[in-house]
Amino acid sequence: MKYKFLPKEDKKVAEIIARENKRQKEELELIASENYISSAVLEAQGSVLTNKYSEGTPGHRYYGGNQIIDEMELLAVARLKKIFGCAHANVQPLSGSPANAAVYMAFLKPGDKVLGLKLDHGGHLSHGHPVNFSGMLYNFVQYGVDPKTGRIDMAEVRRIAKREKPKMIVAGYSAYCREIDWKAFKKIADEVGAYTFADIAHTAGLIAAGLMSNPVPYFDVVSTTTHKTLRGPRGAVIMCQEKYAKLIDRAVFPGMQGGPHNHTTAAKAVAFGEALKPSFKKYAAQVIKNAKTMAGEFIKLGYDVVSGGTDNHLFILNLGARGIGGREAEVALEQVGISVSRSTIPNDPNPPMNPSGIRIGSPAATTRKMKEKEMLKVVHWIDEALQNKDDKKVLARIKKEVKKLCLAFPIPTE
Ligand SMILES: *Cc1c(COP(=O)(O)O)cnc(C)c1O
Repeated sequence: MKYKFLPKEDKKVAEIIARENKRQKEELELIASENYISSAVLEAQGSVLTNKYSEGTPGHRYYGGNQIIDEMELLAVARLKKIFGCAHANVQPLSGSPANAAVYMAFLKPGDKVLGLKLDHGGHLSHGHPVNFSGMLYNFVQYGVDPKTGRIDMAEVRRIAKREKPKMIVAGYSAYCREIDWKAFKKIADEVGAYTFADIAHTAGLIAAGLMSNPVPYFDVVSTTTHKTLRGPRGAVIMCQEKYAKLIDRAVFPGMQGGPHNHTTAAKAVAFGEALKPSFKKYAAQVIKNAKTMAGEFIKLGYDVVSGGTDNHLFILNLGARGIGGREAEVALEQVGISVSRSTIPNDPNPPMNPSGIRIGSPAATTRKMKEKEMLKVVHWIDEALQNKDDKKVLARIKKEVKKLCLAFPIPTE
């Protein structure tokens, strides 16, 4: 990253950015929610569009001088519609959680009942956890995965929905590695008269590539972050059926937010353009292959992979039987230059600060063009590091090997 002005203007900030850039280049990112953006996305994100205020929607702004910004936002919307086939799209949400807040605000009143997946089964904080606004404002009832299969049991969801009669059912998760039966959710929601809300933050890129099923045709409303598998800037979007267009737009602004971040809208448009290219489909297919390769190898090595494999870009290792906690594992891997996130396992006997598992994802490594061969190496390094978590010598040796691999597979930005 060569900056012309920053090192002169602000040495401290320039130095911190340079160090983080070096870390990203030399270390391996296996956190399932992270990715590396392209130089084109980065340039759009760093543009002067950040200077402009444009509360409202294209053609209906509360500030003058927005004709060019309107063009930008309409371009982002048009590309997003092409990717997912949605009737209406709002590209202004600042991030996933505010997007979900806007969705709830559009369809619910405080205290209304909503069905969401339990956090320790793979749900997101914004799907009704008590420490999150969602759990404080709305009356969330949680469903879980089947303890035997690790998969969502649709008969159980139906039973809970019939008992609770929620106003909305939320599907789409943060730590769930199996295909989701959107149609079955829709059918249950129709039976009890509930709205359907899909949060595809994690799998949006795989759905965009046509490799996982798309909830857009069935669901009332769909939200996604743009920075996970979709490989855009930090941010989010909301898609909905045409009849809800006004409700959603009003919930985003003035309901939840003020002015949209136009530089981010530009970067979203670039990322959507990239997602429409054939090369993105290849990328997404490799993401899934790489995750399956890692999960399969861990199983061969005797590890317990939740649900016994994966259909998408991530999987959860249950380390319970190995006498190592999720946090310990995270710290050990940090020492070899591999980032993973500690994760709960379904019905985790341990607390969230030190849960029983780690979540591993392939999107970022795949952006570096790593394939099955590299993934196998990575699995064996992880295994070795976990088995020698207190042996500084072994960890130092693995760290060197990780760095060598990373330098051979550069990140897309300089
Ligand atoms: C990541 C994620 C979010 C939140 O996104 P932020 O941008 O971090 O607020 C929401 N829902 C799901 C399912 C997620 O995985």
